[in-house]
Amino acid sequence: MSRLVLLGPPGAGKGTQARLLEAQFGALHIATGDLLRTHLSEHTPLGSEAESFMDRGLLVPDALIVRMVEAEIGSATSFILDGFPRTIAQALFLDTMLLAKQTPLDAVFFFACDRKELISRLTGRWTNPRTGRSYHTMYDAPRVHGVDDDDGGALIQRPDDTPAVVERRLQTYDSETLPLVEFYEKRSLLVRIDALRPIDEVTGEITAVLSTRRKTGVR
Ligand code: ADP
Ligand code: AMP
Repeated sequence: MSRLVLLGPPGAGKGTQARLLEAQFGALHIATGDLLRTHLSEHTPLGSEAESFMDRGLLVPDALIVRMVEAEIGSATSFILDGFPRTIAQALFLDTMLLAKQTPLDAVFFFACDRKELISRLTGRWTNPRTGRSYHTMYDAPRVHGVDDDDGGALIQRPDDTPAVVERRLQTYDSETLPLVEFYEKRSLLVRIDALRPIDEVTGEITAVLSTRRKTGVR
């Protein structure tokens, strides 16, 4: 059983790792960005409210996000949160919700990555809009350019992966999300990961930490 948070700046590789870990642990992958993009494409009321924030690289208001996450977690006891929480208010909400269910978090993996690399990862990212899987033109290319290996459909470049919006998203991250590092450090949940390393090495680092913790019984 794993209840994990993947915390880090946009482009650090959270979604990439969440997919690999999901397959390994059978935990539910909850990516708030993917959920919001589904709302957008289905033209739901939440999608219309969220769109202008997402387009501008700003955070969608906490009240909308926490409601969506609560419904998504439902009765699951094993999950990987990817892109949530992103504010202290969201983290406090999560704490309260998990306390009520008596299912505390096991670990918060913080993906440390420098800004130059983040920009290069985001501007070279190609995404499957149907599944959220992402590729990279140089670091993790699909077999055929612009085509998803899994479903054979078209890959797209996300409208918020343009240099101007990326800049804004990184600013938003610094002001709203970075304080969560200290928040989780104080709760002894934070595990710092060197996200600059290649994809398989990052997966190896995370699984090694989880397996040591299981053996030693450390939460
Ligand atoms: P996030 O979910 O944190 O926004 P993604 O998982 O979508 O980030 O990764 C951003 C981009 O970087 C994608 O194009 C992905 O293929 C690529 N990527 C992810 N992890 C690595 C890595 N360790 N090294 C190089 N490129 C990576
Ligand atoms: P992502 O796919 O994680 O890069 O998220 C894309 C966009 O969705 C972000 O730039 C935000 O506008 C919005 N978003 C995703 N997750 C959250 C969250 N936890 N809180 C607020 N906004 C979010």
